[in-house]
Amino acid sequence: MLSAYDKTYSRFVNQMILIDQKGEIIDNDCNIFESINGKQIDTIHPFFESLAPLIDREDKEYDFSCVNLNVEGKNHIVDLSFKTFEDDDNALITIHDLTSQYSKYQTVAQLRNNAKVQSEIFSYENELITKKEAFKDNFITNFSHEIRTPINTIGGTAEFLENSNLSQTQLYSLKVIKSTNEKLKYMVNDILDLSKIESGYLSIIENEINLMDELQTIADIYTKKCELKGLTLDCEIDENCPKYLISDKFRLAQVSGNLIGNAIKFTNTGTVTLKVRVVEKNTKMTTLEFLVSDTGIGIEKDKIDSIFDSFYQINNKQANKGAGLGLAIVKRIVEALNGEISVSSTTGKGSTFKIVFPFKISQNRTMETISIQQEKVKDYEHRVLIGETIKKDQVEISKTLNSAGKYYTVIVDNGDDIINQLHRSRFDIILLNLKLPTMDGFDVTRYIRFSELPHLNDIPIIALSGNPSEKEEAYCMKRRMNDYISKPYDKDVLLEKMKNILQKK
Ligand code: ADP
Repeated sequence: MLSAYDKTYSRFVNQMILIDQKGEIIDNDCNIFESINGKQIDTIHPFFESLAPLIDREDKEYDFSCVNLNVEGKNHIVDLSFKTFEDDDNALITIHDLTSQYSKYQTVAQLRNNAKVQSEIFSYENELITKKEAFKDNFITNFSHEIRTPINTIGGTAEFLENSNLSQTQLYSLKVIKSTNEKLKYMVNDILDLSKIESGYLSIIENEINLMDELQTIADIYTKKCELKGLTLDCEIDENCPKYLISDKFRLAQVSGNLIGNAIKFTNTGTVTLKVRVVEKNTKMTTLEFLVSDTGIGIEKDKIDSIFDSFYQINNKQANKGAGLGLAIVKRIVEALNGEISVSSTTGKGSTFKIVFPFKISQNRTMETISIQQEKVKDYEHRVLIGETIKKDQVEISKTLNSAGKYYTVIVDNGDDIINQLHRSRFDIILLNLKLPTMDGFDVTRYIRFSELPHLNDIPIIALSGNPSEKEEAYCMKRRMNDYISKPYDKDVLLEKMKNILQKK
């Protein structure tokens, strides 16, 4: 009974044709052929013509696979066997209809072939892309190196010109050249960095670093930049931070410098804060969290995800000298150091960038923490504003003051900038070249002594004179300057005079 169902619903059940010795079909249960009983086997399909000579052989079995039988316009692919018997004159043909399997197999084979062709095309395209990328990287690297030479030459020549006798207008134009050149330099460095990163050549050089020293350097650089904008830089370092770590100090400085630089750039008033905190620590490893927060313009919610993309800049009114590459580079470096970066921000209130880095702790020094060393980011005792036009003298004075260790210096080269600085930040003393451009030393002193801002009126001023005379010194005192120094400076005299004045104050 089941055989009836088999024939109707199963395509895989054997179908049989029984033929006699003369090749006449005496029985069949075949659904490929219809009404074939009584017909000669070689008349129902040309394939069977080839079987006719085999009928006489005794007890033989012949297998044929993948036979294509086209019957009344329909194609069947079958495995077929032809069997003769020892004690029976009849022969049995068994047909296994595998049409659907073979067509599935064909589809699979076709797909496999397609996949093979696709993968060939893909690898060919890949090869082309790799070649193109290699060319691009090579080009960018060489080009960036080539372009640095003229940039440095422009910078050097501009500095040289600055110290020559230029008019106010010329000095202004020179300032534009210098700042544009600086911007170009940053962009070239960024592009070079990015191309190195993208071509997998970002070098990470790990060594033992003194975390506090590195943070101190960063704090020194960016405190000055903050001061120039009238901002404050706060540094809070967790005392449990291990003192000696294994890391790449240049990349660490690059990453934190970039974030602090952005914080300063996008903040007009208030504070930029760098906090370093221990998240986890054992004898071998520590995870530190670096937070760089500002009280600046903030980032709109829908833009936050894009700021790490290359060449992305939010179209805000903030003067921005960047190229939109800084954060893209930072993100890649952080990832190369196995860290993570994230940002939270509120428009109008400020932003906080968070980096979490794992560090190896330098062995043999595992117990040393920053607190044991009793160190802290340096607080300067006195803030000194220096108004000096001549580069050589600027360098000389700041060297002298830096060597004393307690002075924080801001140098400007014209009278207007002295006034700007005084409006932005607090200073304890001013060293003032009498021959400053825009407002000379006497005008600046008059402005200070008679300013409507009372905290300015008493700031001590030491006059610096390139052409000293008793008469000039007396005149300076009359104009309410506090002391007078002639060039070339005597370091000890300068420090002594400053010390005396500041002590009195
Ligand atoms: P850029 O060279 O423009 O500074 P970055 O990749 O460093 O490029 O930053 C991309 C953009 O993200 C900036 O143009 C700015 O719009 C935004 N951004 C970055 N840092 C801050 C921040 N601290 N406050 C506000 N906006 C920021």
